[in-house]
Amino acid sequence: MADRVNTLPFFYGNITREEAESYLQHGGPSSGFYLLRQSRNYLGGFALSVLHSGRYYHYTIERKPNETYAIAGGKSHRTPMDVIDYHSQEMDGLVCLLKKPCNRPKNMQPKVGPFEDLKERLIREYVKQTWNLMGAALEQAIISQKPQLEKLIATTAHERMPWFHGAITREESEPRLQNGSRSNGKFLIRQRDTNRSYALCLLHEGEVLHYRIDRDQANKLSIPDGKKFDTLWQLVEHYSYKPDGLALVLTEPCPRPDGANGLIGPPQYPRDHLRLTSTLQNAAGGILTRLRNVSIPGRKKDQGRQHNLAGNNNTYETRVPSSQPGKEAMPMDTEVYESPYADPDELRSSSVDRNHLFLEDGELGSGNFGTVMRGIYKMRKTEKSVAVKILKNDDNNPSVREEMLREANVMQQLDNPYIVRMIGICEAENLMLVMELAELGPLNKFLQKNKQTTLKNITELVHQVCMGMKYLEEHNFVHRDLAARNVLLVTQHYAKISDFGLSKAVAEEHNYYKAKGHGKWPVKWYAPECINYFKFSSKSDVWSFGVLMWEAYSYGQKPYKGMKGNDVMQMIESGKRMETPVNCPAEMYDLMRTCWTYKADERPGFSIVEPRLRQYYYDTAH
Ligand code: ATP
Repeated sequence: MADRVNTLPFFYGNITREEAESYLQHGGPSSGFYLLRQSRNYLGGFALSVLHSGRYYHYTIERKPNETYAIAGGKSHRTPMDVIDYHSQEMDGLVCLLKKPCNRPKNMQPKVGPFEDLKERLIREYVKQTWNLMGAALEQAIISQKPQLEKLIATTAHERMPWFHGAITREESEPRLQNGSRSNGKFLIRQRDTNRSYALCLLHEGEVLHYRIDRDQANKLSIPDGKKFDTLWQLVEHYSYKPDGLALVLTEPCPRPDGANGLIGPPQYPRDHLRLTSTLQNAAGGILTRLRNVSIPGRKKDQGRQHNLAGNNNTYETRVPSSQPGKEAMPMDTEVYESPYADPDELRSSSVDRNHLFLEDGELGSGNFGTVMRGIYKMRKTEKSVAVKILKNDDNNPSVREEMLREANVMQQLDNPYIVRMIGICEAENLMLVMELAELGPLNKFLQKNKQTTLKNITELVHQVCMGMKYLEEHNFVHRDLAARNVLLVTQHYAKISDFGLSKAVAEEHNYYKAKGHGKWPVKWYAPECINYFKFSSKSDVWSFGVLMWEAYSYGQKPYKGMKGNDVMQMIESGKRMETPVNCPAEMYDLMRTCWTYKADERPGFSIVEPRLRQYYYDTAH
């Protein structure tokens, strides 16, 4: 949302109330003159400053948990722009109607707060250290989880600030402030006995004053009777510019005795270091604890257990979060975010030793080829939960075996967090394809059963699929069977593309694959050029992606329900397209329609669709 608001000419960014008044003053005494600024105490909130009869009025526009915006106690709207439009028509509690926007002076950009400046760097450092990621895996994690990471960083960034001294006592804090420079306004914040309250310690005329910072029921932080804040850094920012009840303003952060300057986090660990060791947990403070306590519907109790491999003293934890309602897992918290071979100590081999593969009871699914079972694969250092596609022994049909080997060959060349990776092929009593496990199963079935899934959650998943497809496009592969049934969920917040049975590598110069004839095709997902000319490209995958989006936003309904393939083709040829699913956001239906552009060369590729989807996801996910 912030990105969209940033483009408004009357949005000033992170300016103070006093600065807002001085801008309004220059616009003359007219009533209803207004500007919008970023809230300095509510995360993701805004403030509306209005001039009326020579006086200034400031209203907080809160962002509510259901992603709507409202002036406290007022009507909710989808965006802050809608709040302004509404109050230009209706006073509804405001001192006057909003009449004229006070635009920024020429060449002035919205002011960026000190935290905004740091944010990108903090997120990068945080992801690097918490999940020990590098290169493409790091970039993909930041792109796919940006809104969630921003929220985490905002509420825990104080842990990286020089003025935050952690859980020290009142007695310990005083000599720290009295040491070195003793300037008035020198300060630190310490954590009190629980994680829920803090104290601000402030040097004033050689004496240390201690102010309690309490947390209320709504999790807001404040000095008794003072202004309320979502985060400690907002509180520090506020009291650094006005005392507002304190003896004086905060001037100089008291450095921590360990010399940490706030931005340098804990040391980097070698890649084989355990990811959730106590050291890292301490370094990341409460964040990791929160990340690990997530709920994954359908998880079995013994998952997330500690394993200790026989003959190997390396005790390690699987990176699967344990269950606690209300908390969200990120893809990086799971074992299947990075390739099982990302660790150089695990030798990459396309063949899996049958002695290291243990099949478990219970079928995950089945298809023409046979069944998919759950299993455990013991690697050199770790053991992985896997899905094993087992070819049924059918001597009459050697082509099924070839098909499975072709699928394995394609999968072996792909390595992306949003694609089910092949771990290897096992030739034993049957031919077996060992893959990463995505235990929540196909997206369409999940959504049919979980109608309470939010639109925000659906957009997050669809965006991940789009990231996986962008990777395929960049590597010149066409999927040819992209549909919600072939997107498998690792968690409710983590999707992977699967089923590469029809996929093909395409020559870079042609960019398409020409099928020899019509096969058993998923016609309802196919672009016109696939059906008319047997021509498959990333652009035809984009068409299928549009159908997949439609399936997702309609909670797993069948596309073109009740229609025969021929009727669907006629409908498309006549220029008609599927209607929008109920409650589907207009922006997303618009994107589906773009994916259903008739001519392939006028249809955008994933390199265009993904950033469009990403923008909408960021705008709505905060
Ligand atoms: P066909 O090749 O005949 O089209 P299919 O497409 O039905 O078969 P898959 O999609 O590969 O075959 O697998 C069938 C089912 O097995 C899936 O719908 C899913 O429920 C389960 N399954 C497949 N792969 C995995 C996996 N990696 N993790 C968890 N479950 C899986």
